[in-house]
Amino acid sequence: MDLGLAGRVALVTAASRGLGRASAEALAAEGAAVVICARGREALDDTVRAITEAGGTAVAVAADVTDPAVPERLVRAAVGRFGRLDVVVANAGGPPPGRALEVDDDAVRAALEANLLTSVRLVRAAVPHLRAGGWGRICCITSRSVRQPIPGLSLSNTARAGLWGWAKTAAADLFADGITVNLVCPGLHATDRVEALSTDTVSGPLGDPADFGRVVAFLCSEPAGFVSGVALGVDGATVTGLL
Ligand code: NAP
Repeated sequence: MDLGLAGRVALVTAASRGLGRASAEALAAEGAAVVICARGREALDDTVRAITEAGGTAVAVAADVTDPAVPERLVRAAVGRFGRLDVVVANAGGPPPGRALEVDDDAVRAALEANLLTSVRLVRAAVPHLRAGGWGRICCITSRSVRQPIPGLSLSNTARAGLWGWAKTAAADLFADGITVNLVCPGLHATDRVEALSTDTVSGPLGDPADFGRVVAFLCSEPAGFVSGVALGVDGATVTGLL
């Protein structure tokens, strides 16, 4: 199947490792030029090297996506380098574990900043450029906690549910402009983040990040143009609710 991504330009945040990197690699494998960001330079350079060696095009910007000025800067970097922007994959590092009654105000604010506001700011900065092209794909990487809160991860459960409400609204607002907005909700995948969490908070089947990246690439594709406002689980059937 031709995903229609050749010649497109994609911005993927928090993409030097794990699910963000896999998404950038999958988009690049489909012919999109990708701009990636993360804080650490070494892993960014390694990712650019891997994409380039595989025949793709990638540019890295070292940046902390929780800095309110960064989303605008990343969008400018993508448009400045490639002349357009078509695809946005909004990702950020996950918040620390914490039981509902043990997290303080500062921890809740930090989670909202990292796992809700980063996406809102990025989409706000990107949409004028997507509208200019009359086409756009926006995916926010969240968690299966959007569909089924995970015990012991109250910060993730809270921030991501808020993002889901915002994204669903944005999807309705943007569809007439040819722009889709979806959430991709991973269950456990074999990344550094999962290795860092204790086995008390995570257990179950482990997905392959490369497969997750291909799901993101499909949601960002031409044929997925009528798929919008969806929170797509990529969770190995570990979410047991019906909705
Ligand atoms: P990961 O392997 O730890 O990778 C995180 C990536 O994000 C790295 O490239 C990291 O690079 C970058 N990053 C972190 N904080 C950043 C910041 N403030 N600004 C810019 N870049 C930043 O994580 P992952 O497992 O891929 O998880 C990605 C997201 O999916 C997280 O929100 C996580 O909670 C969520 N999630 C993951 C799973 C899973 O099974 N893996 C399941 C559910 C949800 P630097 O550290 O160099 O910045």
